[in-house]
Amino acid sequence: MSPLSSPRQAGAPSVSFEFFPPKSEAMAIRLWETVERLEPMAPNFVSVTYGAGGSTRERTHDTVRRIAQQTHLRPAGHLTCVGATKNEVLSVAEDYWQAGVKHIVALRGDPPTGMGEVFEQHPGGFRDSIDLIEGIREHRPDLGKCFEISVSCYPELHPESRGWDAEIAFLKAKQDAGADRAITQFFFEPEIYLNFLEKARAGGVTMPIVPGIMLQPNFNGLKRISKLCGASLPNWLHELYEGLDEDNETRELVTANVAADLCRKLSDEGVSDFHFYTLNRAGLALSTCRLLGLKPNPAEAA
Ligand code: FAD
Repeated sequence: MSPLSSPRQAGAPSVSFEFFPPKSEAMAIRLWETVERLEPMAPNFVSVTYGAGGSTRERTHDTVRRIAQQTHLRPAGHLTCVGATKNEVLSVAEDYWQAGVKHIVALRGDPPTGMGEVFEQHPGGFRDSIDLIEGIREHRPDLGKCFEISVSCYPELHPESRGWDAEIAFLKAKQDAGADRAITQFFFEPEIYLNFLEKARAGGVTMPIVPGIMLQPNFNGLKRISKLCGASLPNWLHELYEGLDEDNETRELVTANVAADLCRKLSDEGVSDFHFYTLNRAGLALSTCRLLGLKPNPAEAA
């Protein structure tokens, strides 16, 4: 059965999965095992990140291309504006198209030193994600208008935000430039997403805003990244992970349950699509899907 035509299980959500490109042989084995195990979940799409500063350009591209060629999955390649000329970035988009990849997650990105550092536009590069979307749409109008384009959004504001009005206007400008969908930064309280959705809709953003759900069982790592990206960690979450530093198994069970509980609360409010930050861990993504009533469909496996 073609994944495009696969029916969604009644009442089950539609999911997508984010992976990162592997840095070593061992990580490559883990990634491909993850891809293989998640494929039968018939995700709407899977995406592959682009390291800070464009540091994973080749690895991202190879991973996305291999998913397109060797699985039934529909991959999206993340693309950033960092450290490259417009032509270099557009040639990556062109290569994606040639490899059968029709979906790009268009981002401004962070400097090579990572999140929290100041972004500097490359002298010949794109200014921000809007400039990038416009570049993709205009570069080859024949291809540009066929690419599906997803963008980021920030329910608790981006650290460089100029305030809510500017944030929502900026997201609306991404939509006007040609974005088809926004994927949120991770968050842990349903109200954070629902309040943001209300603001975005009031500001004229009509595209789907898909909640990004974090599956990170390493709570110390989560604390570090939250601080940098401005996502809050509620007290109840600190309490849940308290004393579990040496107990990976329990942390994983907690992580899947926290994620599923958040998705269920959002489902009750009418949300039906979820994007999981899998960190290339199949077990966590699979158990979260199971808790949401989503079961594998063996017909989807390559
Ligand atoms: P933009 O949305 O272009 O801008 C970031 C923020 O700056 C805006 O939200 C707004 O607050 C402010 N801003 C900028 N210009 C204006 C303006 N003219 N008016 C008003 N406000 C403005 N990083 C990677 O390096 N690789 C990845 O693969 C990657 N994937 C991601 C996927 C998702 C779903 C998300 C949410 C983030 C991802 N990131 C990734 C992180 C992202 O690169 C950083 O958050 C980066 O700092 C901003 O990139 P952006 O595309 O969100 O920027």
